[in-house]
Amino acid sequence: MNLYALFGCRFPADRKALFLIEPDGGKLSYAALDERTARLAGRLIELGVAPGDRVAIQAEKSVAALLVYLATLRAGAVHLPLNPAYTAAEVRYFLEDAEPALFIGDPARGAGARQKAMLAEVVETATGRAGFEDVAREPDDLAAILYTSGTTGRSKGAMLTCANLASNAETLRRAWRFTAQDRLLHALPIFHTHGLFVATNVTLLAGGSMLFLPAFDLDEILRLLPETTAMMGVPTFYSRLLSRPDFVRALVAHMRLFVSGSAPLSAETHREFEARTGHAILERYGMTETNMTTSNPYEGPRVPGSVGPPLPGVEIRIADSATGAQMPQGEVGMIEIRGPNVCKGYWRQPDKTAEAFHDDGFFISGDLGFVDERGYVHIVGRDKDLIISGGLNVYPAEVEAAIEAIAGVAECAVIGVPHPDFGEGVVAVVMLRPEAALDEASVAGALAGSLAAYKRPKRLFAVEALPRNAMGKVLKNVLRETYATAFRDR
Ligand code: AMP
Repeated sequence: MNLYALFGCRFPADRKALFLIEPDGGKLSYAALDERTARLAGRLIELGVAPGDRVAIQAEKSVAALLVYLATLRAGAVHLPLNPAYTAAEVRYFLEDAEPALFIGDPARGAGARQKAMLAEVVETATGRAGFEDVAREPDDLAAILYTSGTTGRSKGAMLTCANLASNAETLRRAWRFTAQDRLLHALPIFHTHGLFVATNVTLLAGGSMLFLPAFDLDEILRLLPETTAMMGVPTFYSRLLSRPDFVRALVAHMRLFVSGSAPLSAETHREFEARTGHAILERYGMTETNMTTSNPYEGPRVPGSVGPPLPGVEIRIADSATGAQMPQGEVGMIEIRGPNVCKGYWRQPDKTAEAFHDDGFFISGDLGFVDERGYVHIVGRDKDLIISGGLNVYPAEVEAAIEAIAGVAECAVIGVPHPDFGEGVVAVVMLRPEAALDEASVAGALAGSLAAYKRPKRLFAVEALPRNAMGKVLKNVLRETYATAFRDR
């Protein structure tokens, strides 16, 4: 089993069909994809890359960088993509930890435009043998190592097998009905599970095509949406689209599907998007270690604020984080996941792997949530973001949803910071809509009917923008530092 060969079985019979289109008109057919990755895979082997070796790459998003991923699979090696934003010191850690046979990048300079041009040339002129045969792999062999974007402690390398990636891509292709007629708008980074595996692997398995943007550029997206059938994004893509008055129903009337994930999509954004476009965004939940785990249905209700039921073949249970006991339906606890989608563990960290898995194979996600009476999963926040105020649990997602429902609020993040009486006090950091005004008293008034007093923020800060990472996740550790002394003198 070679993952690329598996994709290859599903390529369109007419290999002149397009796999990838660039905004400037550049085109790559399936025939060209096959030929270029064969040459590049051959070159990797000539350079000494053996089956199971890691091939690390730190590069700006480009077609060449995507071809490196697929060529690495063909050579039987393990793809290891690194965020171009990592500094030389950070890259050194990953290289020492993963010991790749080959590193593509420039540790001294990071991943700039110059490197992008060089990489394109290397890939273009690769001269591996003709008639390349994909290197055989076992289902349990590694296809990729993705380092978690962990905000505390050392980043861990999630070991993803060929079977993990193959099964999840096939499950998603079916669940979301991707076909050769689809053209996906691809504006996500390709060093992360969402843009790399969900978007690319599903497209390849469907024999479809993608419009491949170097980054999220609002004007470009508005220009190109009419040429696509589906889009995958992080929640900020959708809120940014909604901020544009020229993002109108007619522009997307022809589209089949909008998918959101990697961070919570607010129920407000979901509703506003549906009101504006007629499309209900399909929200799904996953993580680097587990691939995709739940998804709202293609047919059937897509519930705002929920990530939907588990995908076929995936098991979910909700456990008491302290005792591990199963929680009754409807109650909040640790989300635990088992299935062919879940990674093999953390690279060279058997102790971290042991901590993350139960003996029966369930993976401890670190996310808190509950399952409603329909079987839909609701995420209430990361375990480490749980606020304990006066001995009572406050789930940030619940408070954030209540604040985002107040007129004038665009986005909100709720954190807990040290409080002299309560241990932790609830703090809300709010981004307002243009020209809106809001103060602590009016928010308190608006929440009085919807939230118990202990859950309501004791302090409110208005900001221009929330700090987010490349995947649109709010950096709550940064907020906790910024507002650490919010209650010191009160
Ligand atoms: P990453 O490994 O970078 O993909 O991050 C995975 C984490 O993102 C999960 O553990 C969740 O905390 C969060 N996440 C992903 N999708 C969603 C979603 N639809 N709603 C809420 N949180 C999400």
